[in-house]
Amino acid sequence: MSQKAANDLQDLQHFGEYGGVNPSISDSSTYTFISAKTMFDTFEGNTEGCYLYSRHSTPSNLYLGEALAALEGTESANVTASGMGAITAVILQLCDAGDHIVTSRTIYGGTYAFMKNFLKKFNIETSFVDITDMNAVKKAIQPNTKMVYCESVSNPLLEVADIAALSKISIANEIPLVVDNTFSPLSIRPAALGADVVIHSLTKFINGTSDCVAGVVCGTTEFCLGLKDVNNGAGMLLGSTLDSLRGASILKNMRTLHIRIKKHSENALYLAEKFEADGLRVVYPGLPSHLGHLKMMDQMHPQYGFGGLMTLDVGSLENANAVMELMQEKKLGYLAVSLGFYKTLFSAPGSSTSSEIPEDEQKEMGLGDGLIRFSIGLDDDIQRTYELMKQCMLQLNILENKSKVNK
Ligand code: PLP
Repeated sequence: MSQKAANDLQDLQHFGEYGGVNPSISDSSTYTFISAKTMFDTFEGNTEGCYLYSRHSTPSNLYLGEALAALEGTESANVTASGMGAITAVILQLCDAGDHIVTSRTIYGGTYAFMKNFLKKFNIETSFVDITDMNAVKKAIQPNTKMVYCESVSNPLLEVADIAALSKISIANEIPLVVDNTFSPLSIRPAALGADVVIHSLTKFINGTSDCVAGVVCGTTEFCLGLKDVNNGAGMLLGSTLDSLRGASILKNMRTLHIRIKKHSENALYLAEKFEADGLRVVYPGLPSHLGHLKMMDQMHPQYGFGGLMTLDVGSLENANAVMELMQEKKLGYLAVSLGFYKTLFSAPGSSTSSEIPEDEQKEMGLGDGLIRFSIGLDDDIQRTYELMKQCMLQLNILENKSKVNK
């Protein structure tokens, strides 16, 4: 597969207002018009290149949106104040009261809670299915289904969605396929595989510095303009607007995304292979033992690797908590949710980022108590990191107890 995403990003070039190498930041909530008629036309959505009010759009957010559209190979992109701001706007734009959604049963806990609980207010129902089972997806579609939704690599179980196959089902049923690509920027380009709308939480790898929350919706110009419509646009009316200063800083961080993703992936693959050889139960799409390994190989851009996320099952929540606290003490990373930081972040999703999912459903989908999700950092000497992590496991008898862990 080609380098196209990175090349498209590399080729984007904007001069700042004064010839600076970074575009100037637009520090205004509202914009003036020379003529009242142009203001009216802008409200009607008819004036290209005019700015109205910052909840609608700003030059800084448009620059970032352009870069994200280039990343995902879509016509356009709207940035939002969080990943959830992007997800909720897309869902409410595509679904009316009484509609239905088909989604993967393994998705980010916040998305799960929104679909399962919040959408009840609108009588919108969701079927949660095994997204790797195409028959289950087909069977779940009803006459009132308005979208198929999945994460390209799922949070936290790292299931790999077959985007081309899901797209075929969506096309046959004339409904859009919406893909959250937060875990695999650059590695997977869902729109090229048939996704209609691609979402990211920019909070994670794309920004990469864990200093803000932000999101994006990438799609056709028509869909993105629809989200901004002053009368009916869920983006405009729900008001999840990214601040221009933050938009500008995310754009600057994005310029090193290709280098960071390669390093996150290289380090995660190294640790996954080592810990699997040590007898721990490791889930990482780069391992041949991973159920989605071949699918991942089939749809990824290999130069960016299999991503920075891996999970280890250490048998019990007690073990998970003890080893995470010890690793933090040994400066191997932080016991924290989120992902894509330069330091390794680890958390037990069953009691944190997926705690919205009821325990019985967690068990059914294979989310055990002892599961630790790692977002592997940019460590320069990953061999040293491995040795120190292994010492933590040995100190707590997690590796000695491997036969027990592996049952
Ligand atoms: N999508 C995925 C896969 C996530 O992991 C998260 C957050 O953890 C979100 C969306 C939500 O993004 P945000 O926290 O930026 O609202």
